[in-house]
This record gives sequence, C-alpha cells and structure tokens, in this order.
Amino acid sequence: MAPRDPAQVLHQVFGYDDFRGDQREIVEHVSGGGDALVLMPTGGGKSLCYQIPALVRDGVGVVISPLIALMQDQVDALRALGVRAGFLNSTQGPEERRDTERAFLAGDLDLLYLAPERLRVGSTVDLLERGTIALFAIDEAHCVSQWGHDFRPDYLMLSELHQRWPDVPRIALTATATRATHTEIAERLDLTGAKHFVASFDRPNIQYRIVPKAEERKQLVDLLRAEHAGDAGIVYCLSRRKVEQVAEFLTAQGITALPYHAGLEAPVRAANQARFLREDGIVMVATIAFGMGIDKPDVRFVAHLDLPKSVEGYYQETGRAGRDGLPSTAWLAYGLGDVVQQRKMIDDSEGDLAHRRRLAQHLDAMLALCETVECRRVNLLAYFGQAGEPCGNCDTCLTPPQTWDGTIAAQKVLSTVWRLKKERNQSFGAGQIVDILVGKQTPKVTQHRHDELSVFGVGTELRDVEWRTVIRQLLARELLAVGGAYQTLSLTESSGDVLRGDREVALRRDPERPARSSRSRSAAAAVALPAEAAGVFERLRAWRGAAAKEQGVPAYVIFHDATLRDIATGAPTTLAELGRVNGVGEAKLARYGDQILETLAADPA
Ligand code: ADP
Ligand code: ZN
Repeated sequence: MAPRDPAQVLHQVFGYDDFRGDQREIVEHVSGGGDALVLMPTGGGKSLCYQIPALVRDGVGVVISPLIALMQDQVDALRALGVRAGFLNSTQGPEERRDTERAFLAGDLDLLYLAPERLRVGSTVDLLERGTIALFAIDEAHCVSQWGHDFRPDYLMLSELHQRWPDVPRIALTATATRATHTEIAERLDLTGAKHFVASFDRPNIQYRIVPKAEERKQLVDLLRAEHAGDAGIVYCLSRRKVEQVAEFLTAQGITALPYHAGLEAPVRAANQARFLREDGIVMVATIAFGMGIDKPDVRFVAHLDLPKSVEGYYQETGRAGRDGLPSTAWLAYGLGDVVQQRKMIDDSEGDLAHRRRLAQHLDAMLALCETVECRRVNLLAYFGQAGEPCGNCDTCLTPPQTWDGTIAAQKVLSTVWRLKKERNQSFGAGQIVDILVGKQTPKVTQHRHDELSVFGVGTELRDVEWRTVIRQLLARELLAVGGAYQTLSLTESSGDVLRGDREVALRRDPERPARSSRSRSAAAAVALPAEAAGVFERLRAWRGAAAKEQGVPAYVIFHDATLRDIATGAPTTLAELGRVNGVGEAKLARYGDQILETLAADPA
C-alpha cells in the first residue's frame, strides 16, 4: 500500500474533519517511527492515535489489549470502516486462528489485536517475527503498574517487545494518570525515552455528584426516574451479592437492569455485556470487573452504591459516562458504613505492610474527595496533577456545602470512645457511641450500664444521622480509627490534639437536599432537536437498529447518535452532501449511503 497522509486517512476512513487535541501530533510522531506514551481521559480519542499510524505505515499494527471480550466488537467496528482487522485470543477456534495468521503473514491485515498472554506462547512470537510490523500499541498501559488498581502480571513481559523489535515504534496508552502510575508505566515498559503526551483529564460534560447515603436503593431509583428514565447506565457495587440484589430490585421497579460480576458463568456475562452494548437503555449493575474498554458512547450515567477504593479507579469508572460528549451524570452515594467497610477490608487484606499502606493512601484520597467542600472537579484534577477552575457542574459548585465548627462535637465523640476504654476497658462500634451520646436507653445500653457514664446524653443537640456524619468525617481524617472483628472505634495519634483543644475541627454540613441540575437529562432531552429533525432522527435510529440487528453488531458501530443527529439536521439530499457529515467515511458512505438517503426521503406518514 502506498504511504498515506494521516489527515487523509482521518477523513476518508473515519469520516472526521479534524484531529482532536494532541491526536495530530501523536499520529505524526508515531507514523514517523517515534515511541509515545499517551495519557488521555476516557473518551479522549486514544484509538485513532495508533489506528491511523498503523494504516499509514507499512505492515500490521499489533495492538496489545487485555480486553478479550471486546476484541470482536473492536474488530467489527474497524471492518465497518473498511479497515482490515483481526484478533488472536483464547476465545476463537483453531480455524479462525489459522485464517487470521494467514492474513497476517500475507500482509492482508492492517491491525491485529492480541491479548498480552498470547506473547507468552512461543508460536505467537514466531508468527510475529515472520510478518512485517508497523507498530506495537499497548492499550490500557496502566495494567503494568503495581501502584494502580488494575495490575496484570502479563503486562510485565511487554518490555521485551523493545528488545526483540528495536526498530518498531511503540505507543502505550492509558486513561489513568497519576504521577506515580505515569512514572511506573514509563519505566516498566522501557519508554523513558519516548515522547510523552499528557492531555487534560477534564471531562466537562460529566456532572460529578457525591451524596450522603441514606436509603441507597431509593436514592438510586429516584435518580434514575427523575433524570435518567430510559437511559443506559452503569451501577457499581462492591460485592457480587449486592450486584445481584440491586439488579433484581431495579427489575422489580420496572427498570431494565442486568447483573455483571466475575462469579457469573462466562456465557451469562458475555450475553449481558452484549445486551448492554447492543440494546438501548439497559442499566448494568456490576462489580468493577465490568467496564474496562467498554466504548459504548451513550452511557448517560455511572452510579456508585459503594465507595470506590481509589480516586484512580473512580475516575476510570465514571469516565465511562458520556464518551459522546453529551451531558452525563457521575453519582456516588457515600456514608459512614463505607468508611468502616473499606478500613476493614484494608485490615483484612493480604499482602505486606507496604501494600496495606498503599491501599490506605488510595482510600484517604478518595475520602478527601468525598468530604471536600470545594469543587469536586478541581479536587479530581489536582489528584492527576492538573490545575482547574471551579467548574459550575458538580454538586459542590451547584450547592456549596456549609461548614460548621465541629470541635465540640468531635470532642464529645472522642471522649466517649476514650471513657469507654479507660473506665470500662471496652470498645464499641459507631452505633453504640451514637446511642450513648443522644442518651438512648436501648437494651444494649442498659446491659452495659452505659447510661451511668458521664457522657451519656451529652449530645442531644444533634440527631443520630448527624452524629454519624460527624463520626464519618472523623474517620475520614484519621482523628478516629476503626478496626477489629467488630469494627470498633478507637483513638488515633491525632485524637489527643482535638481532645486537648489544640486543634479545631471544621466539619462539612451535608446538604439536606443534594444538588441536582434543574434540566432533565433523559435520552430524549439530551438529543434536543427541533421537532421536524427529531422525527427524522427517530427514523434514522430505527433504520440503524434494524441494520445493527441484521449484522449482529452494536448500533453505534454503524453510526453514532451524534452522526445521526448531524444527518437529521443537515438533511443531505445527495451522497456527496452525506459524505461531508462528520462521522461518515468512505466505506460507510458506500455501504449505507443509499439506505440513508431513502430513509430521509421516505414519507413519515
Ligand atoms: P478512548 O479510547 O480515548 O476512550 P475513543 O478512541 O474510543 O476514546 O474515542 C472516543 C470517541 O470519540 C469515539 O466515538 C471516536 O470515534 C470519537 N473520536 C475520536 N477522535 C475523533 C475526531 N478526531 N473527531 C471526531 N470524533 C472523534
Ligand atoms: Zn465544580
């Protein structure tokens, strides 16, 4: 194939007018044989950064990706663009594998997707050595990092690519980018000499909201009904059991919800994932086993019912919302129980002290995000080493939380914990401490004669839930500790400062009615087209749905919503006009052009 110009490939194959952000520079650098390390948020457009150089350079672009379950969809999407793509992984039969290998050797492939563990197989390496390789792309490169949240041992072998193929350019890409991860990727993949491209991590179309947890299921259903009726979204839960329960609960509420976790049989997982990708408006209730590489563009919300373990993980997970750039919601319900649970998990975790300390650092950063009274986005971006301005599109910007002087309240909690220890040699969980403070005569209080303590009933100025908020914030700041088999509270090194009055404690007052933006953001509203164009858009969507079903691919593989919207508003009448719409490349124009023009011309009646 004659060498091609990157801009021309962007236009002809992908149908896009312009590169976004750093894409042009990255594509030109790698096309020219340079190594690159690319940090770009989810939805930033990483794929083009290696797909275009693979088409521009001689030979096959080899893409290393851990996302076996998604390779078929990725390859289908490329084939729909007229790109010759294939994959080698454990899901395929010997015949399919042989066909792919033959195509690779004959130079009939532009892109070959490989799972990292394939490189452990000698025959794969032999195969690669017999072909011509345009570049190596290492997707989800943070999987090489032990600091991060998604370490995969097979990724450690990828540094060998450079030794074996010193002249083939390598491009590593990730959406996870704290300084620690960044450095670790560069070192472990031997990319310290590569050019580093760090994009802004801001995702302005995602509205970040963290609400105090009360009745989490009801809160979730309210959110879905009020703002995301009929929308596709993901609900993350910590445990498999909770995933199943919440999925059942939502289903009983008339919401189409499916479970996904590593304990489900592989065919069930695959079927649920396929439905989420292919059908409109499915809610996936999942553990974090779900989502990496899911490039469904119209996920309108990501909800967390449990506290994520790290800000990195949280940002990855929420980043799956709104890849199409339309308004989307990231919503997290968080409470005292989450702090207790996470601290317990760290206590119970296997691994050495250094490992536990790392987990604790991750959790502390996550708690700081939850408890901040400042812009969530500024806090998130700061975590990734980037500066930002208060965004106006997060809960704390929309309804700035008040702070109050919680020094005395903190002293009451801490001295209750202290007295129990000193006078009775006892420790108790948060529930009992609150009952003592508010002076509640429960059987457990009577049994332990806690009503005889001098602190009994000293805290009637706050309600139970408010005391729990105080305790939650003390735990988050490590002014109080939780541990042991019964998750009992104890003092920390810093508690004394508060008890002695040497340290003031400003506390966040949880808003009574958590913020939400006034506009409705359901699927229909997000599309917001004039009436006539809206009708055309719906006809195009119906056509797309039928075409997708016939070919067994997700609808967005055919065209994205954004492209259909542009077609509906532009109302092209000729193939040439249609070809100018953003997202309509040559292959799709040739394949679908006539059908679209017919759909546009069809009488709506
Ligand atoms: P990432 O892998 O970084 O999460 P993708 O590569 O999946 O992001 O791209 C996100 C979306 O943006 C995709 O739908 C893609 O087609 C679209 N996109 C990428 N680059 C461009 C561009 N230059 N112009 C228009 N759309 C683009
Ligand atoms: Zn903000």
